[in-house]
Amino acid sequence: MISVSSQNRIEFYRARHIAFGPVNAFTLWPPDEVKVTKGADNIGVYHRTERSLRKWCKICGGHLFTDHPLWKLTDVSAAIIPSLLFKPALHVNYQETVLPMKDGLPKQKDVPEEMGGSGVLPKN
Ligand SMILES: [Zn+2]
Repeated sequence: MISVSSQNRIEFYRARHIAFGPVNAFTLWPPDEVKVTKGADNIGVYHRTERSLRKWCKICGGHLFTDHPLWKLTDVSAAIIPSLLFKPALHVNYQETVLPMKDGLPKQKDVPEEMGGSGVLPKN
């Protein structure tokens, strides 16, 4: 079980990238605001690069959250925070979209410049 404080987050939609569907809602948090309150023994880590430590559930294999130590951010899928009223701020990795969304939100081709991306907004 994971709890997060209810402030200091930015919420996103991402297209396909590490997602299990055409669109995946996620939230970014300062790492010390994401607390595992139960079941910490059942969390595994997948460690492909130093940039992303993907945490998963050893019981069901489900994705839980991803630590980004270099960005000092923790990425939590919105779906596993039932108490969260999801209010996304932007889309990332939109160049891969298979489900165009007309929602008026900014759409990053990859990720914002602050996160090492191009910062380019494709035409919607
Ligand atoms: Zn599980």
